[in-house]
Amino acid sequence: MTLRQKLDIEWEHRERTANTLAPDGAGVFAFEGFNMPSMPGRWRPPHQGETAEVAQRERHQRHDRRRGSAASRGYGSRWQKARATFLLRHPLCVCHLANGRVEPATVVDHIVPHQGDQSLFWDSGNWQALCQSCHDSIKARVEDAFLKGNASRQELRLDREMPELFF
Ligand SMILES: [Zn+2]
Repeated sequence: MTLRQKLDIEWEHRERTANTLAPDGAGVFAFEGFNMPSMPGRWRPPHQGETAEVAQRERHQRHDRRRGSAASRGYGSRWQKARATFLLRHPLCVCHLANGRVEPATVVDHIVPHQGDQSLFWDSGNWQALCQSCHDSIKARVEDAFLKGNASRQELRLDREMPELFF
């Protein structure tokens, strides 16, 4: 057998294997995600000279224009410092933790909604460290129920077992 014949056999084998592995014709070099349908709008290349930092600042500015700046909402630098310190001391989501999971906390949540009440706002005994997901889903739901009189103050604390949500 010549080298040429050997190579032909080898390539034929590889092509067969590739087709077996990727029957959709994606080929042996396809890897997870590579041939996934593209998601338009999820990512755009930065403009020339635009750093990630500038892009992020512009995103924040657009965000602030929609909901008012942090300072105008009463979340000034004093709050930024207070929340950073609190998160350093409470680095994990208390809700995940109470349910045997480890998830970094990124939100300092007011257990009882402060609704502009400054003493409630600054009372660190009224704060709990949450991940964004627990804050946006579980806490939002309980808080809504609380404000409608359908949940107790105790239920606003998420450092409790919730087997119906964490299984
Ligand atoms: Zn969580």
